[in-house]
Amino acid sequence: MLDLNVDKAVGELNSLDLMVADLAEDGLVDSVRRNREVASKEVWDTLFLRDNFLRQKARCNWIRLGDTNSKFFHSVMKGRFRRNNIASLITPRGRLEGVEDIKSEIFNHFKSRFTEPMENRPTLDGLNFNVLSVEDRDLLEAPFQVDEIKEIVWLSDCDKSPGPDGFPLGFLKKCWNFVKDDVVNFVQEFYVRGVLPRSATASFLALIPKAPKCVLEEIIKIQRNFLWGDGGGSRKMCWVSWDKICLRTEEGGLGVKNVEWFNLALMSKWGWRYLNDKHAIWFKLLQFRYGSGLQSLGDVVSKSTLSNYSLWWRDIRLVCGTPLGGHDWFGDSISCKLGRGNSILFWKHCWLGNSSLKLLFPRLFEVCSFPNALVINCGLWENGGWSWKVGVDSTLLVGELLEDWKELIEILKDVKPCTNGVDKLIWWRDVGGFSVRNAFKRLYTLNMAISNGSDFRFCELKRLWKATIPWKVKLFGWRWILGALPTRKELWHRGVILGVEASLCPLCDLEEEFVGHLFLKCGKVKFIWKEVFSWFGLDFDVLLGSSDIDTIVTGEDVLLFLLNSLDGRVKSSFFAFIWPLVCWSIWNARNSLVFEHSNWNVVEILLLIKSIGWDWISILSKGNIDISRDLWFANPANCIGL
Ligand SMILES: [Zn+2]
Repeated sequence: MLDLNVDKAVGELNSLDLMVADLAEDGLVDSVRRNREVASKEVWDTLFLRDNFLRQKARCNWIRLGDTNSKFFHSVMKGRFRRNNIASLITPRGRLEGVEDIKSEIFNHFKSRFTEPMENRPTLDGLNFNVLSVEDRDLLEAPFQVDEIKEIVWLSDCDKSPGPDGFPLGFLKKCWNFVKDDVVNFVQEFYVRGVLPRSATASFLALIPKAPKCVLEEIIKIQRNFLWGDGGGSRKMCWVSWDKICLRTEEGGLGVKNVEWFNLALMSKWGWRYLNDKHAIWFKLLQFRYGSGLQSLGDVVSKSTLSNYSLWWRDIRLVCGTPLGGHDWFGDSISCKLGRGNSILFWKHCWLGNSSLKLLFPRLFEVCSFPNALVINCGLWENGGWSWKVGVDSTLLVGELLEDWKELIEILKDVKPCTNGVDKLIWWRDVGGFSVRNAFKRLYTLNMAISNGSDFRFCELKRLWKATIPWKVKLFGWRWILGALPTRKELWHRGVILGVEASLCPLCDLEEEFVGHLFLKCGKVKFIWKEVFSWFGLDFDVLLGSSDIDTIVTGEDVLLFLLNSLDGRVKSSFFAFIWPLVCWSIWNARNSLVFEHSNWNVVEILLLIKSIGWDWISILSKGNIDISRDLWFANPANCIGL
């Protein structure tokens, strides 16, 4: 409809231009010229209106689809896939259905386009055509230049996501200096070989596993800057420690994957296969190259031995052998089920109970003759029974060592290998076997000190992540609950601003600006809550008056106040999205006041809260809620939970 208006206005403008041209000689042109000015203004106004309209639409899309891999986003993507899917095909031979038939029909159709039937054709000998110069021809075949590649990247839209785990082009732009070489190499390789590397179809993440430590650090830096900064490379303050951010959301983090552990987990897959795929060719090759000393991945290897290894093998030895934080995470994550005992190390593997004999009897291990002995070599079958011959010099067995020895013999008494059985490796209490995912989980539990937060906090965070609000508001709410917002008191604590006066609330200038003050107790903010409460038919002053206001300091305290003051349907809607909505609006208005010197207008803020709330409820509910905007503005309590 708006497009029609633009066309109409442009048409009018054109006809007026013709008139101006016709009348120019008659000197009667002034009035027409004025009309033309009016028409011109009309065109620009309409264009402006259309732009605004589109912007509005885009905003709706953003809220609805989110710039996130949400379930909803993917269901939209799936829908699109289904629309692009060919379920049946009408051909001259009738309707075709089924994947195979449709595939072969399409294949043959295009195949026929690329085959040439043999027939006699006239030749074009003797005709002169325009021919490209040699330089021009070479130019056509020249490899891509860095600037050309950059230009294409810059011409592309930033926001479109290439897939659930890929990076958008905006990523390449922001991190151009860092990824430039890889992108150029990637394009050059395609130019030379004409084949896209397989990783291109997976995602850039596939390149990370092979990354050395400095690259991993660089990646973490980019992730960090992305979260806290503007991505422009300037160092920003990190408001929550990276370790905490890597925590799962239910533990108070953002569930960001620690790429270093992810890398270790991926590498350890080779370690696991090394232990289990003894018949694989690559294992035999390793044995051929490095000899039989390969038995245990966990062995400490001397530096000189390590330097003889190939890079790949060295990395695997380091990942699966070197204690990480004083802990041989890989070796200690594997337990064995004793069969014949020909692939289990008596001391080092965990095959009796929950830990290795090396850890259970460190003093005995210290003096044993064969630290790398296999179970099968630590005893022998005689007179139809198994007797243990653990290689420890009996003359040493006095005092504490003798006590240890007796205990070990007691443990071994009823244990014997099973001649027909096969030794089996078990990955960390997991009957399903080894997986990169399980290895990552193992690293996570080993390295993550359990976060110290209250049950109440975790409960509220859980509710927040589930709330029907846009992702950026969830992120705001997460910082709000964790106390990681740059309020003046926090900035003052961190030494960013100096002097007690600088930490005063920018709204009232009376008290320090901390979460409990800015988002509830401040005189200027109370008005907003008062209005929001009365919008839901409640008296804020009475409720606040009956609570101990001095105890409200943190975001959690504010939530506790709401929890105690509300009930029923209103309570559930406040926790589903009203509190993030109100706090987010307060924060935005506070920031415009501080940075753009806007006025603090309660009526305006309230109107914004109501209309944003309407946007969220109508768009994010995916049309499930059939209420009118007027009803929402007049009586929200009736609109929720319908
Ligand atoms: Zn204040």
